[in-house]
Amino acid sequence: MSASNDASHNTAPLTIPVTETTSGPNPFITAQQQLDQAARIIGLDPAAHELLRSPLRELHLTMPVKMDSGQTKIFHGFRVQYNDARGPNKGGIRFHPDESIDTVRALAAWMTWKTAVMDIPLGGSKGGVICDPKALSPSELERLSRAYIRQAGRILGPDTDIPAPDVYTSPQIMAWMLDEYCAMHKKNRFGVITGKPIALGGSAGRGDATARGGIFCVREAAEALGLNLSGARAAIQGYGNAGSNAHKLAAELLGMKVIAVSDSKGCIYNPEGFAFPALNAYKKQTGSVAGFPGSAPISNSELLELDVAVLFPAALESVITAQNAPDIRAKIVAELANGPTTPEADTILYNKGVILIPDLLCNAGGVTVSYFEMVQNAYGYYWEEDEVHRRLEKKMKTAFRAVQQTAQSYKVHNRLAAYIVAIQRVAEAMKLRGWV
Ligand code: GLU
Repeated sequence: MSASNDASHNTAPLTIPVTETTSGPNPFITAQQQLDQAARIIGLDPAAHELLRSPLRELHLTMPVKMDSGQTKIFHGFRVQYNDARGPNKGGIRFHPDESIDTVRALAAWMTWKTAVMDIPLGGSKGGVICDPKALSPSELERLSRAYIRQAGRILGPDTDIPAPDVYTSPQIMAWMLDEYCAMHKKNRFGVITGKPIALGGSAGRGDATARGGIFCVREAAEALGLNLSGARAAIQGYGNAGSNAHKLAAELLGMKVIAVSDSKGCIYNPEGFAFPALNAYKKQTGSVAGFPGSAPISNSELLELDVAVLFPAALESVITAQNAPDIRAKIVAELANGPTTPEADTILYNKGVILIPDLLCNAGGVTVSYFEMVQNAYGYYWEEDEVHRRLEKKMKTAFRAVQQTAQSYKVHNRLAAYIVAIQRVAEAMKLRGWV
């Protein structure tokens, strides 16, 4: 089915051509299908629907970077500003070899819905650079980060578009980017980027905010199901910022036992559970979880199909598909990654009675504390960590309940419910501004 055919009351052709990808589903088509489904249910105004199917603006960047060898290498990247009806565009920057414009468009759309679900006064954007950050030296990484800002800096700003970390970008990268932006604008503007190190205007609690928000959601979902999580098993796909902190907090806050984890180099299993401090130290030392003493190697599909209370997909897009969804045995799927489940898999999981906490809600703790960071930067006054945790918990609970109530009243799965909440809010803002 073509993406344009799927818009029920949208007769105009797509204004943004979708680039077909050869490996796996195209995430932008997925994002448009999800929007179309929700738009149909709420009878969204056709002009609003068409406007929301495409990004408002996008920038394609070409960046020369001096490598340590003395040679210049040319990198390509993107910044997509999807929709800023509700406030400045907000979204991370990814460094990944498989980055593509359609992935960035999808991720920018998801940021728009995410900030709306959380009811924070921001729009949605995303950036990406096609590169293999693991093959770059620290100084090459710094020069690439600065080159990105030299190009994209012209459309960024605390009132227009505020980047943050995402896959393979870090607080250190945010610090270099901030410095480059401040040099371009000849003054300190800490609010232009979030996820900064604390010493440079970062917020306490931002480091584990994505995972913490997800854990709060899991706790709410378990309570609604009458499920006791203490001693229950969890599996985590991906062991970056979100995945590793989910390990720490699932144990610390929920008393769960994490029996399987994976990263890009391997997948490990131990029915007794992994202790976070030891596994985290091992990953820091060796660069991977693979080969952790006392663990058995398993395949990625075995991890996803384990009999656990909670499965945390915390890596990349489209890992739960029509092929493996029938075999998922988790009671709760908590999406710490963006876009890990395809629309076909959503329906399968829903019909099986799996409770899915969608990315727009489950991983929104990151952007929520990013918003707190912007507020603190604007004030020049910084909160204690427990204050950040308290405010985050309140925001997550409110958003969780809005999605839960919408799912019940429309009799739809949680992802559709999250879309309905988000689209209604963005559409209202666009209408009030006179856009549609
Ligand atoms: N990259 C994170 C996300 O996908 C955080 C974005 C932000 O803080 O702006 O939600």
